[in-house]
Amino acid sequence: MDPLQTDTWREIFYDLIDEVKPENEWELKMVQGLTAEALPWDWTEVVEEHGLASFCCSHCEHVWNSAQAVIHHVHLDHTGAGGQVRKRTFRQQCHLCWVWAEPVFSQDSARRILSDLVTSIRQKFCERLAGDAWLVNDFY
Ligand SMILES: [Zn+2]
Repeated sequence: MDPLQTDTWREIFYDLIDEVKPENEWELKMVQGLTAEALPWDWTEVVEEHGLASFCCSHCEHVWNSAQAVIHHVHLDHTGAGGQVRKRTFRQQCHLCWVWAEPVFSQDSARRILSDLVTSIRQKFCERLAGDAWLVNDFY
């Protein structure tokens, strides 16, 4: 399986957020240095605790699956016009040779993670957004 590219995360996110037709423009960025401690005061942290990913060790080719945390920092500017999401996924260490491996997410897994994120965005910012536009779909 090819690693899910940043562009693919973006495409899926725009897809999902478009379906709820927010009145604001949202932007998604991958930020590898993101930490909970570095959350700016007017941002919100949304953590997906069970993002399913697979890993393949580049050294010994050991393959494993793991539910791992995916962090999102979300911010809507004070005019309500522009929203930003910073996203971070985490590497894991191969337990055979201790080499670090990058997570690989399937499209389905990514969609599930982003769908939860969009739900959180909706709950958090919904009073500032167009009401009924947020009553939407179910993917599962
Ligand atoms: Zn290994």
